[in-house]
Amino acid sequence: MTNFKVGIIGAGPSGLAMLRAFESEQKKGNPIPEIKCYEKQDNWGGMWNYTWRTGVGKYGEPLHGSMYKYLWSNGPKECLEFADYTFTEHFGQAISSYPPREVLFDYIQGRINKSNARDYIKFSTVARWVDYIEDKKQFRVVFDDLKKNETFEEFFDYLVVGTGHFSTPNMPYFEGIDNFPGAVMHAHDFRGADQFIGQKLLLIGSSYSAEDIAVQCYKHGSDEVTISYRSNPIGTSWPEGIKEKPLVTHFDGNTAYFKDGTTEDYDAVILCTGYQHKFPFLPDSLRLKTKNCLYPDGLYKGVVFNENERLIFLGMQDQYYTFNMFDTQAWYARDYMLGRVPFPAKAERDADIKNWMDYEASTETGAEHVDFQTDYIKDLISYTDYPAFDLDNVARMFKSWLKDKETNILNYRDQVYTSVMDGTAAEPHHTPWMEELDDSLNRYLQEKCEEERELV
Ligand code: FAD
Ligand code: NAP
Ligand code: MG
Repeated sequence: MTNFKVGIIGAGPSGLAMLRAFESEQKKGNPIPEIKCYEKQDNWGGMWNYTWRTGVGKYGEPLHGSMYKYLWSNGPKECLEFADYTFTEHFGQAISSYPPREVLFDYIQGRINKSNARDYIKFSTVARWVDYIEDKKQFRVVFDDLKKNETFEEFFDYLVVGTGHFSTPNMPYFEGIDNFPGAVMHAHDFRGADQFIGQKLLLIGSSYSAEDIAVQCYKHGSDEVTISYRSNPIGTSWPEGIKEKPLVTHFDGNTAYFKDGTTEDYDAVILCTGYQHKFPFLPDSLRLKTKNCLYPDGLYKGVVFNENERLIFLGMQDQYYTFNMFDTQAWYARDYMLGRVPFPAKAERDADIKNWMDYEASTETGAEHVDFQTDYIKDLISYTDYPAFDLDNVARMFKSWLKDKETNILNYRDQVYTSVMDGTAAEPHHTPWMEELDDSLNRYLQEKCEEERELV
């Protein structure tokens, strides 16, 4: 049955994957439902659509973007590659394994530009509120056209939420931070290391944001960086100039006091304390309520909202895999909406969710988390025609990446991997990552510069 209407909120990698999944069905000559996608920014790409702004966007909406200048992929591109559109197809040449942000944005756009997806997307339009109308079995969604400053509503049989979950900061309070004399910000508002050159920084939190912002500030010339952890230190062997300390307990002026009784003075504080899953447009009965984890409770196959099976969430998991995981979810969601995948009664779905959650609870190490997400994707792929790829090999690359980071956090991005999609071996970047201060697409695609050629 295809005479139904699907609404997609968000045109980041997840929302775009949903559009692409339907497009691939249409290309086979099969009928597809009526589709509309709404994106509050004026372009697609989600996080990858970089903005210099902080706080609010140009129409006064809470700003989505958390990315910053000089951001390079923090995992090998071979682990996130689309199975139906390779890096080699896009760039026509082998590139390195850890491209900068602009290069990944270009790649995302390459696939979607080949389709008519743009025709389905209404930009600068924010979803304000959703109601489920029980007797019609439809969602009523209220939108604001931000450019026209006009409110309107639309009705959908299925609603796909692809609004991401690394946008609304989690901002804990530390006594005395209100009187800290230097800059205090959350990683969400960090736009690059430039303003911290020559400074002594305190980062609170010990996950990817802390690790990457520490390394970036070190690379671009901050004096010293301390990472303060609540549960576990990152634990890599840090270069002189970056260190880890237990949690800060309070501040007095520019002095931070730590749990181990030590104190130190800082110029700036960056809260790398993660994000909240936030859906201000959903009533609490339709809201996904979860912390950042690999299997959020209440989502059948990690996708279908178990309390209302016409509501779908994409990309709500914590992420080792990214673009190709969103694809496998979107392909599953498509076939689910088209009635092609088995959909058991609620008790069986509850049991399936519980199995996955128990499995996640039994994992501890990074390698075990990778295996978990690999198994999750294998399960999803088994239901659809998303091109199968060598997931065991991708899992091996992730584990090798984890080791590379432990060995040397400053040069793991110089390592190269081989695509499981088309066998292309990555080429080392022309400049060692620590020496490469220009992250532009142009510079990245430059041949080895003349000087280096002469030396070879
Ligand atoms: P998003 O990319 O967040 O897109 C969600 C979209 O929904 C946005 O365009 C937003 O404007 C829109 N939206 C939100 N609310 C509304 C609304 N109410 N109405 C209309 N539209 C709305 N992944 C990697 O693979 N490699 C990396 O190196 C990497 N680096 C990262 C660095 C940072 C700092 C962060 C925060 C994330 C990084 N990620 C990385 C993970 C990243 O989240 C994913 O790659 C990907 O962007 C997630 O896609 P998404 O579509 O689910 O969400
Ligand atoms: P995250 O992985 O969810 O980690 C949140 C961190 O905040 C954890 O270390 C947590 O500590 C800590 N925390 C939370 N509340 C705290 C509190 N009250 N006090 C002290 N610490 C607290 O979030 P993230 O690091 O921001 O990463 C988000 C995403 O961005 C990831 O997908 C990551 O890959 C991506 N990212 C990528 C890059 C890149 O280089 N490409 C750069 C940055 C981010 P506990 O362990 O104690 O809970
Ligand atoms: Mg299959």
